Amino acid sequence: MTDPVISLLRDLVAIDSVNPSLVPGAAGEAQVAEAIAAHMRRMGLDVHVQDVSPGRPNVIGVLDGIERGRSLMFCGHTDTVGVAGMEAPFNPVERGGRLYGRGAQDMKGGVAAMIDAARIARARGWRKGRIIIAAVADEEYASIGADALVGGWKADAAIVTEPTDLQIGVGHKGFACATIETRGRAAHGSRPKDGRDAIMRMGRVLNRLERLDRDLQARPPHPLLGTGSLHASTIEGGRELSSYPDCCRLQVERRTVPGEGMETFAREIDDLLGVLGREDPEFEASQTLLFSRPPYQTPPAHELPPALAAAAASAGITTTTTGMSFWTDAAILGGAGIPSVLFGPGGAGLHSVEEYVNVNDVIACRDALASLALNWV
Ligand SMILES: [Zn+2]
Repeated sequence: MTDPVISLLRDLVAIDSVNPSLVPGAAGEAQVAEAIAAHMRRMGLDVHVQDVSPGRPNVIGVLDGIERGRSLMFCGHTDTVGVAGMEAPFNPVERGGRLYGRGAQDMKGGVAAMIDAARIARARGWRKGRIIIAAVADEEYASIGADALVGGWKADAAIVTEPTDLQIGVGHKGFACATIETRGRAAHGSRPKDGRDAIMRMGRVLNRLERLDRDLQARPPHPLLGTGSLHASTIEGGRELSSYPDCCRLQVERRTVPGEGMETFAREIDDLLGVLGREDPEFEASQTLLFSRPPYQTPPAHELPPALAAAAASAGITTTTTGMSFWTDAAILGGAGIPSVLFGPGGAGLHSVEEYVNVNDVIACRDALASLALNWV
């Protein structure tokens, strides 16, 4: 018989919840949120739907014990990235111990595990404290779901069930994004004295950015998270083949480690444009900062990672604590004063055309979360 957590996972993967901020016109989280709300109501949880923006709800299920105690939050996002190039993204297929489909690993496997953990915990006699299960919107774009969640909900600790291969993630990098624009002067391609080439000017910027990236990656690494880095994301410029381009626009992303933030990146770009301006008085460029999110680290010596390691061991999982490369909502929970760690099932192919989660990992993750809830009193 199929384990109930896998039946739930299949139901969730079968629902299109592509993030509409990433892919205009995409389905969004409304339908998957409705299915999760209905499932949690059937489990007997007290269910709250938080409308973050139109068609973009969070669903929060609450289980209160008959004795007062500490609260434990499980948090996962319900949105997925797009499905371009996938043949049957919403048709969950199980093969060789893996469940395939968009969002199977990132992160409906973790969402199914955290929901079903409440059922198992209760069946095993859980009766003290509070379990809060938060299924949030929009992690893949701007995390408006997690932002809204921490506005209304608090907990003594949280597990974000992003895919970690069943390792305990106690931190991750942050990021900052900016646009750099170089300006030139449009002219007929035959008139080099009149034209100023904005794209060539961006070439100088790219050259400096590449050097900066090398410098960042050569710095002494943060013991958990490594070094910062940057990459060019998108570039556009020029109007037609036979004209000097008057403008070129580059989007660039910087990954940050503790001690670095938006201001760090702004200063680095300023410095680099300043150097180019001194080398060539005609050089003209500006920057606009777009968006940033901070890095995250679980407070050192916090009791949550060892408590989770013990719970995982009781579910047959050997864990180590580690830093994760990708940004998660743990930074938002942590920033709101909820000590958080990352712990979720393994798989592969997140954000790519073939995505799967390991079925046994989902079951083991669910069992570990249930044990943690039983001990977190
Ligand atoms: Zn994710």
